[in-house]
Amino acid sequence: MAKQAQTPMMVQYQKIKDQYPDAFLFYRLGDFYEMFNEDAIKGSQLLELTLTNRSRNAEHPIPMCGVPHKAVKNYIDILVDQGYKVAICEQMEDPRLTKGMVKREVIQLVTPGTQVDVGSENAKTNNYLTAVVADKSGQQFAFSYVDLSTGELKVAELTTQAELVNELVSLQTKETVIDPDLPTTIQETIKKLGILRSTQTEVPVNSSVSYLSQDVDNPLMRRVLKMLLDYIQTTQKRSLSHLKRAVVYEPSDFLEMDHNSQYNLELIKNIRTGKKAGTLLWLLDQTKTAMGGRKLKQWIERPLVNANKINERHDAVAVLLDHYYERNQLQDELVKVYDLERLAGRIAFGSVNGRDLIQLKASLQQVPKIKYILEQIADKSFQDMLEKLVPLDDVVGEIESAIVEEPPISVTDGGVIKDGFDDQLDKYRDATNNGQKWLAELEAKERKITGINNLKVGFNHVFGYYIEVTKVNLSKIPADRYQRKQTLANAERFSTPELKEKEALILEAEEQSKTLEYKLFVKIREDIKKSIKRIQDLADSIASVDVLQSFAAVSEEYRFIRPTLTAKHEVAIKDGRHPVVEKVLGHQQYVPNDVTMDDHTSVLLITGPNMSGKSTYMRQMALAVIMNQIGCFVPAKKAVMPVFDKIFTRIGAADDLISGKSTFMVEMKEANDAIENATPNSLILFDEIGRGTATYDGMALAQAIIEYVHNNIGAKTLFSTHYHELTTLDESLKQLQNVHVGATESNGELVFLHKIQPGPADKSYGIHVAKLAGLPNNLLSRANDILTKLEQQAEADQKRKGRQPKPTRQPKSDTEEQISLFPLETVDDNQAEVVSEIKQLDLMSKT
Ligand code: ADP
Repeated sequence: MAKQAQTPMMVQYQKIKDQYPDAFLFYRLGDFYEMFNEDAIKGSQLLELTLTNRSRNAEHPIPMCGVPHKAVKNYIDILVDQGYKVAICEQMEDPRLTKGMVKREVIQLVTPGTQVDVGSENAKTNNYLTAVVADKSGQQFAFSYVDLSTGELKVAELTTQAELVNELVSLQTKETVIDPDLPTTIQETIKKLGILRSTQTEVPVNSSVSYLSQDVDNPLMRRVLKMLLDYIQTTQKRSLSHLKRAVVYEPSDFLEMDHNSQYNLELIKNIRTGKKAGTLLWLLDQTKTAMGGRKLKQWIERPLVNANKINERHDAVAVLLDHYYERNQLQDELVKVYDLERLAGRIAFGSVNGRDLIQLKASLQQVPKIKYILEQIADKSFQDMLEKLVPLDDVVGEIESAIVEEPPISVTDGGVIKDGFDDQLDKYRDATNNGQKWLAELEAKERKITGINNLKVGFNHVFGYYIEVTKVNLSKIPADRYQRKQTLANAERFSTPELKEKEALILEAEEQSKTLEYKLFVKIREDIKKSIKRIQDLADSIASVDVLQSFAAVSEEYRFIRPTLTAKHEVAIKDGRHPVVEKVLGHQQYVPNDVTMDDHTSVLLITGPNMSGKSTYMRQMALAVIMNQIGCFVPAKKAVMPVFDKIFTRIGAADDLISGKSTFMVEMKEANDAIENATPNSLILFDEIGRGTATYDGMALAQAIIEYVHNNIGAKTLFSTHYHELTTLDESLKQLQNVHVGATESNGELVFLHKIQPGPADKSYGIHVAKLAGLPNNLLSRANDILTKLEQQAEADQKRKGRQPKPTRQPKSDTEEQISLFPLETVDDNQAEVVSEIKQLDLMSKT
């Protein structure tokens, strides 16, 4: 934009805007927040606002658009949800009382990671702002995260970039604060994850929150905390007294799950819809409070690895299952608890209103009831929670005595504080009430004097109190006393000296009463602020109780059983089910399956036709492990399981099939991740590894991977494959076992039994799949003929060599193709035609 003489206002604007180059600056101008220049052009598009110009007639008009201040929150949310930042710039002086330019300041920078007033649809998710610093080598990281609405603050040291990515992704970070010196490769990675990178540009004048890191010794962790807290302080510019002291955590305190696993197993998010429905979280969520909902999600994201802690949760679930009556009572009480964590946040920010305090009171009043129920159950597994369940009678008492039951939203317009709470307030109110009584008496008196029966005393904000007389009665008024104030179509409004005098008194009492009410309200709010820590402890404990009752409720509803933890290296699941698929299909339709892997079995090689249930079986195993380690019961008749330390998955998603080569790279990377990091105590799921490349290539790799895992790692591994040739590996690999998913034929149709059976699959289903794909019948019957011929031929060959034929189509070598229905060297021209037709089919696009 060309230079031109700027108005003082635009000079001020530009000065502020220069401090927030990467944010939309919402510049308060009277009843609007205005955007100018580039902000206005982009903002008008994103927010669908009309773009206008300031100084329209100037040579270079300034693009401008604005939003009404009353609706500003919606507009901010829209921008921030799309990953932008918004700097809110307020008028710091009353423009009516100011000569010259009104002072303006940015009072808050709203960013994706610091957005707190998220709508109710997000009540059960946390919004985390994270931060990353690296040490000099660029290989060691300190990582921290905070939820500004709940006050949770955590910090950890991470030793690999993969760990860092996992933390960022599993916390669903939208924004991360980074050290400008962070290695560029890592910055690039963060960018690729679609995470907004912010840097600390300003150091707060006085760091009022440094005490939050006092429990942390490690210098790198202290550095990341300082950076994060500085960023929050300078952007939020408001009280952060509800932040909890930083807690150091170790990723290895929890079951390590790469984010692919979290994604592929659909723990939190449905792969197709991106929503909660159809996920493990969705299935397990019968929590009654928003805090419980968030805690459940946290638990699913971070299953435990400590057997004692897992058992403690199992104990609690078992007890709740046994106490049906108490559990129902508990649910009834929990429903009445509001979001205490976020209420605590609002108390700290000073943004609570009367209604919030009533919600706080109602929630706190539930505490003794919840406590009582748990005491009835009297199990030591609730001991920790009970200790934290301390009723805050003082806070309840204060709110009870001060705040009316149904306060208005506004805290400045009065009507919030109860009568009898404050003497002075009562006096003002008396004055106001007496005033009202006096006005009623005045009305009666004036009617009598004038003889006008419909004479009225009324009030409006512009003209104050008045006496209203309809036009037809105007002749009856005492002209000496009545002074005209306002003329309406049908009536005139008057005042009298007497009314004027009283009016001033009444209005003053009202004004003073409102001011005093607000002062009292602020004092109560500040008092309650001192109890924030106790409220947070309560919230934490209630959230845990809520998740445990949810586990009990789903365990009952879906017939989950308590798993037995074993220190041995074995898995024995009897009649296990995939709980989400089961729920969708219905209990009757689901075919339960065992997983049996003793101390000496590390690899289960799963064969079977497409769509038979291989991948469901593998996911079922992983879900059982996760459910067990979050403390829930598991979908099975009986389950004995060790505690796993890590889960790795390579499970193809539908879209993987289409994207080709790059997918193969992803596949190999994921395989490598597992091979590098798995231990004997890990679980590995490999679904059709090698499918993404040429057949020989893929099969060779698949075999080499199996051998490597088998010989060098010993992790429990479920490996599904369509390379039938691999099933002979059980001869050389002692800890490998073949299983297959059974299928059968009925009236020439392929019927999946979904039942896992010992041994390799022994029949090729190519022709049946071709039939399901809709190939013409005569083509299929021709293929059947060829198949029979080939089988006979093979048998004859075997006989000639004097050997018994093995089931069907033994591979000649490790690298022979799997679907060897039509070995090309033996087919005639006609056969070749059919073969090429089948080969050209795009099976991936068939259902
Ligand atoms: P594969 O991995 O062998 O191609 P999937 O595991 O994707 O097969 O299963 C295909 C479909 O079969 C699933 O969508 C599900 O509807 C059904 N299915 C899988 N396992 C079972 C089971 N145990 N009981 C009932 N239906 C199942």
